[in-house]
Amino acid sequence: MTVDAVAASAACDRCGTFSPDRKPLGSRQLCPACVTHLVQGARFWSSRYLTGVGVLLNPTAAAVLLALNYQRLGEAAKARQAWINAVVLLLCYGAVLATEVQIPRGVLLGVGIGLGLYLGRSFHETWERLKAAGAQSASRVLPVLFTLLVLAAFVTALVFLTPGEGLTE
Ligand SMILES: [Zn+2]
Repeated sequence: MTVDAVAASAACDRCGTFSPDRKPLGSRQLCPACVTHLVQGARFWSSRYLTGVGVLLNPTAAAVLLALNYQRLGEAAKARQAWINAVVLLLCYGAVLATEVQIPRGVLLGVGIGLGLYLGRSFHETWERLKAAGAQSASRVLPVLFTLLVLAAFVTALVFLTPGEGLTE
């Protein structure tokens, strides 16, 4: 038995079954049965979709979708990190919107695109494996509608909370 064969024939990180066919998925090595179970039990957003949402819509939304993807995969640590990123991003957006300091639009746009690309790329390899295992895409419409609603609520709240500024000018 080669070293590779011994390493491969270890316990599945999800169910503990010894399997010679473990494959990496996210940060775990899973047996084929667990991969099938995960892929059939949930739908995921592709890395390309995450990038699109992050770049064109809002990086916070992409971070939330990434967190949901990891939650569905049972990757608690990665999901927690993505939720923390989403909260931090949301606070940053709030601070930027509420601040008196004018930040050039080009800088904001550049940061948003960079974050979107980064978030999408971080899920690329996992999505490729999910796709190869037959994973289906989650709704592409709902996150967009939800994000637009949240953004609209955010802007409306800001206009009401900032007397003498905003749309009345
Ligand atoms: Zn397993």
